[in-house]
Amino acid sequence: MSSVSLTKPLRRLRFPLVPFNKPYRVSQRSLHLAPPWLLDDYIPRYHLISSLDAAKKRSLAYAHLRECNLCPRKCGVNRYEKSGMCLVGAQTVKVNTIAPHFGEEPCFQGHNGSGSVFFSGCNLRCSFCQNWDISHQLNGFDLTPEELAEWYMKLQEVGRVHNINLVTPEHVVPQVVLSILHARELGLRLPIIYNTSSFDSLESLELLDGLVDIYLPDFKVWTDKSSKRLLKADNYTETAMESIKAMHAQVGDLCFTGDGIAKKGVLVRHLVMPGMEEEGKQIVKWLAENVSKDIMVHIMEQYFPRAHVGKPLRGKKAGADASSDATAKVRYEEINRPVDLSEVESIKKAAQEAGIWRFVEAAKHGGFNI
Ligand code: SF4
Repeated sequence: MSSVSLTKPLRRLRFPLVPFNKPYRVSQRSLHLAPPWLLDDYIPRYHLISSLDAAKKRSLAYAHLRECNLCPRKCGVNRYEKSGMCLVGAQTVKVNTIAPHFGEEPCFQGHNGSGSVFFSGCNLRCSFCQNWDISHQLNGFDLTPEELAEWYMKLQEVGRVHNINLVTPEHVVPQVVLSILHARELGLRLPIIYNTSSFDSLESLELLDGLVDIYLPDFKVWTDKSSKRLLKADNYTETAMESIKAMHAQVGDLCFTGDGIAKKGVLVRHLVMPGMEEEGKQIVKWLAENVSKDIMVHIMEQYFPRAHVGKPLRGKKAGADASSDATAKVRYEEINRPVDLSEVESIKKAAQEAGIWRFVEAAKHGGFNI
């Protein structure tokens, strides 16, 4: 480590000398960040891949659409002819909303918003989905990958957003890949966020490698019982573990530029579920022990009963829909309440005890928390 000698002439020190008649201007917010997570500047990864690699990714994207095993559902369908479980074909994607969004973490939404693209459809069927009207049904408008790329440009040029935030994109990865490659030719220069449930396949993440800057995965539940019952997926936990490890291997821990905006890395979200503290504790412990103790984590407290939760039991299926409590009066009665703050705190405490120390909170208002 070098040290500064007090006997050396002042001009050899690297501080800018500011004339007394000019105000000292600080061009960037000061961050209390250690160098490994502070970037001087940032070039999106999709600008660093060669034309040859870009062409390979394009042809691989088309190949995947002809026999889609891109998520763990492994439908194996030719999406040019019919759709699989996600209900989305090959030529277009269904998009519900595209806009600067102020419902994200402060390091993503900054002052101008995160350029969010909310895809319609999903490869999971979470009983409590907070966006079920667009994820369980196809509501929105159809866009080709080229049209999608033009929207990214509008978000950049008109919206002045800080990033392109692809929300629930797991089932449209080939089209997303084609859109990013087209947008790089149009002049896109914003980081790409892949905002996922973590029900991704390794093939899908390999296709995205070199194109995505920030992975924003959920880690929803820990046990297979919860995965089957609440997400309608057999192998969610194992898939999420593999996916998050692969994401972290690509981009590492979350890094920021001096303006406080995240540019590269992984941020894991865990939505605390009522009565499921133990699962949350296992998830954060696993992250610390198997991914990184420096992983950035958002332990979210905004769960609210939605979608199928709290709805009347259905006819003959009532027994199957009810929880193990035979006296249940509504569907998914065990999660039919908001979370208690003590549940949130106990998961945060478990994360700290496991060695995690980088936490992010939701923005307190529609902009930076400053
Ligand atoms: S992305 Fe859609 S079609 Fe492809 S495997 Fe998953 S659910 Fe099936």
